[in-house]
Amino acid sequence: MKLLFATNNRHKIEEVQALTGSSFQLTGLAEAGITEELPETGNTMQANALQKARYAFEKCGLPCFADDSGLEVEALDMAPGVYSARYAGPQKSDSDNMDKLLRELENKTSRRAQFRTVIAFTDGKQYLFFEGIVKGSIISERRGSNGFGYDPLFVPDGFEKTFAEMQPSEKNALSHRARAMEGFLVFLMKR
Ligand code: IMP
Repeated sequence: MKLLFATNNRHKIEEVQALTGSSFQLTGLAEAGITEELPETGNTMQANALQKARYAFEKCGLPCFADDSGLEVEALDMAPGVYSARYAGPQKSDSDNMDKLLRELENKTSRRAQFRTVIAFTDGKQYLFFEGIVKGSIISERRGSNGFGYDPLFVPDGFEKTFAEMQPSEKNALSHRARAMEGFLVFLMKR
């Protein structure tokens, strides 16, 4: 079965293709001839994931899914959330985003946080969502150089290392994206 993953991130496509095996042929946006940037104007991760999946479905007619992720910090009323990539401005700099997060948390007593991924799927008849969460806390100085985004500041519950100090395989086994994908794969395998 052919399935469009509404992303240009080749790495994400390969990761999911490895999980689905050969019963699904995953296609990315570029392969499907969608070269424009997808609209992402929602103010929740659900809205953005659905907007991207829907847009891609309307363009190509294949069953489509899209993901949207972000960091939610309890003491900041779950910010930066859907705005995680551009928290410190439109330049979307991981370093600036981490500096801003540390500044915002300076006088806060709680440093509890979670990463969340929402996957939206549509085949034109149904609209489904799958969610994955990993809980942890934000430390006060960056540690580690693997990964991306806020990884050097996030220590998942039950671990001492930040995501950026973990090997990719270790992070991928417990990440919000992997957890959302697990539920989605169960659904796909039943189709
Ligand atoms: P996206 O929706 O997967 O592109 O994620 C949006 C933003 O959330 C990223 O640009 C990062 O700032 C942040 N983010 C999402 N997932 C992760 C992660 O696994 N580690 C660190 N930051 C992440």
